[in-house]
Amino acid sequence: MKFYDTAQQKIINFVPTGKNVQIYVCGVTPYDSAHLGHIFTFLTYDLLQRRLENLGHTVKLVRNITDVDEPIFVRARENGEHYTELAKREVDSFQKIMQTLNFRDPTAEPMASEYIDEMAAAVKQLLDSGHAYELEGDIYFDVSTFKQFGMTSNFSKNLQLAFMADRGGDPERPGKRHPLDFLLWRHITDPTDPAAWDSPVGYGRPGWHIECSIMSSRILATPLDIHGGGMDLIFPHHEAEIAQSEELGHEPFSKHWMHVAPLLLYGEKMSKSLGNLVFARDLLTDGNPAAVRLALMSYHYRTGGEWRDELWQEAKQLAQQLSTAIQQNNTGKHTGVLGAVQAALDDNLDTCTALEALRTHIASHGDATELQQSLDLLGIAL
Ligand SMILES: [Zn+2]
Repeated sequence: MKFYDTAQQKIINFVPTGKNVQIYVCGVTPYDSAHLGHIFTFLTYDLLQRRLENLGHTVKLVRNITDVDEPIFVRARENGEHYTELAKREVDSFQKIMQTLNFRDPTAEPMASEYIDEMAAAVKQLLDSGHAYELEGDIYFDVSTFKQFGMTSNFSKNLQLAFMADRGGDPERPGKRHPLDFLLWRHITDPTDPAAWDSPVGYGRPGWHIECSIMSSRILATPLDIHGGGMDLIFPHHEAEIAQSEELGHEPFSKHWMHVAPLLLYGEKMSKSLGNLVFARDLLTDGNPAAVRLALMSYHYRTGGEWRDELWQEAKQLAQQLSTAIQQNNTGKHTGVLGAVQAALDDNLDTCTALEALRTHIASHGDATELQQSLDLLGIAL
């Protein structure tokens, strides 16, 4: 099957080396409910997994939970609760939503907090091998020691700096050897801070990037076949993961990189800071999870799209038409819908064409069994 490899900057023909395929997808930071942008991202990998399984592969998909990260601590403080309570509540809610939306269960869903010792040991190893340095107790990765830094994302230096500042980094902190050096370990001095651990690299907590390097390589064998996430993770998060992982001995870290475009809401990126989120749980009050999947499949993962009410209404209508077609149980008229859906997925996960094949099939009163097989492949449970 074909998909767009971010590192190679082109559509590649993905040929797994054996029966097994290992996929790591960066998951959620559990401090707020999952919005449709998240679901759109995870749906891409769910469809990828389903088609690979349909082709006879055994897919190991690991999707982590970033339960040790600054936004959770901030939100928990605002709520006046311990961050672990907030994280647990949001993880429970997220998992329920994913089940309702008929996502395949990940092989593992590791939490960052379960791997603190391994993360600290990795930071120590990077310090000892000269790839990291200390700054006022904090520990940074020295990007000048990894000459391929930036070569997967292919962004200009200016864009790298802008993305880093925008996405939780600190390019302007005085004392760093290089503005793009990223945090591996945050030193904590406040004894009341709820998220700090004793470790060989001091009292504190890991940075976000090292968390994914450790969770991926502890659960899956490297090189991974495919590493995924939202496009906003390409830099610095994934570039940092590559640098750390490869210097920790996992070279190459991943054979392929696959990223999903953002979902817009009336022309704006859906984001917490803009306050324009559409939450999956609110749509699910309509009791129509199949329509959520159908609506998101109207957009290609590489281009993303815009969430609009008409899209939602159309998807609900299509879900109804599909349901009626299954109930009518027509037999005999084969339109080749299953083959068309398979071919569409193989062609860079072309979900729009897959939906067209479904529409054509129901318009011509095609065979219900063939339709059901196509819906199963797409994870659409009516
Ligand atoms: Zn990650």
